[in-house]
Amino acid sequence: MMRFEKDIVLVINNDIYQELKECVKKARPNEACGLIFGMINQIENPGKSEDYLYQYSAKKFECIESDRKSPVAFLINEEEKLDNMCKTAKFEHDLNLISIFHSHPAGNHPSSTDLKNMEHLDFFKSFRRLIWSIMDARKNKMKAFMYLNREFIQVDITFILNGE
Ligand SMILES: [Zn+2]
Repeated sequence: MMRFEKDIVLVINNDIYQELKECVKKARPNEACGLIFGMINQIENPGKSEDYLYQYSAKKFECIESDRKSPVAFLINEEEKLDNMCKTAKFEHDLNLISIFHSHPAGNHPSSTDLKNMEHLDFFKSFRRLIWSIMDARKNKMKAFMYLNREFIQVDITFILNGE
């Protein structure tokens, strides 16, 4: 069983959620893949000193169109391309890559390939502590994961209305 870390939260507003669903729908029957940009805020946990909450707030989503069956695995091995997309988001919108998104035809747990890719990305300093968000294409249900300090963990997701 994977440890659940409730102090790391991916915050998704309704606009972004609709875009994620649309991306998954377009990619059918293949897996969808995209990048979520936003910012990471460290917030002191109310009532608890020296306990922090890490909020990954999604502000922008880029769906990556591909005719590959599993585009995420392909993307992960293109560090240079990924790096360029991150630089563009930083330069044009002042946003950071916070999550790598993809879908599975059924279920939303990381596959053994996903786990390998998560570990692989950790090798690059600029891609460390990214959230891996996975959507079940049948139900549009999402889960989020991270490779943190050599451990695979599940992190929290909060869905909010726009402007909240
Ligand atoms: Zn996967």
